[in-house]
Amino acid sequence: MDSRVNGGLTYNDFLILPGYIDFPASEVSLETKITKNITLKTPFVSSPMDTVTESEMAINIALLGGIGVIHNNCSPDEQAEMVRKVKKFENGFITDPVCLTPKHTVADVHRIKAQFGYSGIPITVLDVSLPKVSYEMDMMNKNCITFVLPNANGKLYSILLGIVTARDIQFHEDHTTLLKDVMTTDLVVAHEGVTLEEANQILRCSKRGKLPIVNSRGELVALLARSDLLKNLNFPLASKSPHSKQLICAAAIGTRFEDKARLRKLVDAGLDIVVLDSSQGNSSYQVEMIQYIKKTYSETLEVIAGNVVTREQAARLIEAGADALRVGMGSGSICITQEVMAVGRPQGTAVYMVAQFAKKFGIPVIADGGIQNIGHITKALALGASSVMMGGLLAGTTESPGDYFYHEGQRLKKYRGMGSLDAMERNICGTSSNNNNTAAGRYFSERDVIKVAQGVAGAVIDKGSIRKFVPYLMTGLQHALQDVGVKSISQLWENAESGKLRFELRTVAAQVEGGVHGLFS
Ligand code: IMP
Repeated sequence: MDSRVNGGLTYNDFLILPGYIDFPASEVSLETKITKNITLKTPFVSSPMDTVTESEMAINIALLGGIGVIHNNCSPDEQAEMVRKVKKFENGFITDPVCLTPKHTVADVHRIKAQFGYSGIPITVLDVSLPKVSYEMDMMNKNCITFVLPNANGKLYSILLGIVTARDIQFHEDHTTLLKDVMTTDLVVAHEGVTLEEANQILRCSKRGKLPIVNSRGELVALLARSDLLKNLNFPLASKSPHSKQLICAAAIGTRFEDKARLRKLVDAGLDIVVLDSSQGNSSYQVEMIQYIKKTYSETLEVIAGNVVTREQAARLIEAGADALRVGMGSGSICITQEVMAVGRPQGTAVYMVAQFAKKFGIPVIADGGIQNIGHITKALALGASSVMMGGLLAGTTESPGDYFYHEGQRLKKYRGMGSLDAMERNICGTSSNNNNTAAGRYFSERDVIKVAQGVAGAVIDKGSIRKFVPYLMTGLQHALQDVGVKSISQLWENAESGKLRFELRTVAAQVEGGVHGLFS
């Protein structure tokens, strides 16, 4: 893998030779370090991209033993709210139910049923003491102005007035009827602080479809669904802080002055790991930011720095105090950096070179970008990475932000590079594109007037829920490690170090041979 001899290589350029198997695949441990001080049960990280990781992804991947990095292409408050949701998550409770206002109509419930598949919808208002009527932006229907109660925001943390169930509207032919006239107001509720077990018991006895959880002010804080009763499985691999039972949460920030204020909000929301999101991390801005974070939050926060692809870049960030490094420049599936900037490195060589160097200092390396399948994950780990960061592979899952749409018979979701014009101009969380705290920070300096895109926008195919997809990746990885004869990621590295694990170059013809070929269909 010496780049002076071979040039740079990437995952498809080599294979690993098989080893000796004397244990079942289920015995393979995938435990690994994400940073110097935080250990995970699985090496899977979701990328800080606005079409990949918001709270839904971060919660679910953490439940499955990995970690999600919440993107920063939104306002600091919105990002902090997402962090808070992850930290406050309790397995089994729905913490972001779709709510409507009393002034929505039966048609809105049908629309939600068609879009999301459920119909037990809480009806909330911000303040019941103000029953005057005025014009306001309807939050559920962002493009039109409708007639709603003032402060009738139909959101979580508002006063719960009722619930509209499928039965309430089943035989209701007039779709313009207001929900205040059909909602059920005779509610069975549980109070904030109730355990999942207690809440399930109340739900069972109540014979209702949904159990709203309210706080002392009568505001809706969560919902429990009867249909989830049987699904509330345990998550033995969940990534949890050792000191609390909360899920571990990571989030990205930039290296600008205003990111310090953003970080304060994220830390106040309970953040465990901050990722300094830059395509070229070897900069005075990043060094200064790492030093600032270490000085200000030394006890509470781990810092992942990057991105880097060389030992020299790694050395500077490790010296500044980084707790882990993110490796990759130009390898992402939506990335055009190598073409446009002529800068970057093939990912196999980048991971190997940086990991070899960083391990002398006990700094874990995250292989970021270019992961298309389980084989690539195996190879990244064999080259010394402690974990893999995925964007495209997770973008089409139920838990990634955005809605599915159909194109030529395929069910798709949008996936875009954070350096694409699309991501820099339009912001998924709804804040202004001129806001400096957006995707643009990863690729441009403050003084840039003309933006040169380093990423593209496209779509990826529906992959279903990560509750199935991540266990699939996990089982596949266990089998791959079994094939090379190792029972853990650390043993994989030991064997690579001692030469027991052998790599072989793969010619273009060998790559063709290794793929599906010769079939009519
Ligand atoms: P993927 O898993 O191959 O899709 O790559 C995801 C990774 O690509 C992210 O974690 C980022 O490091 C990187 N990335 C995200 N957006 C862009 C972009 O617009 N240009 C270049 N790289 C990007």
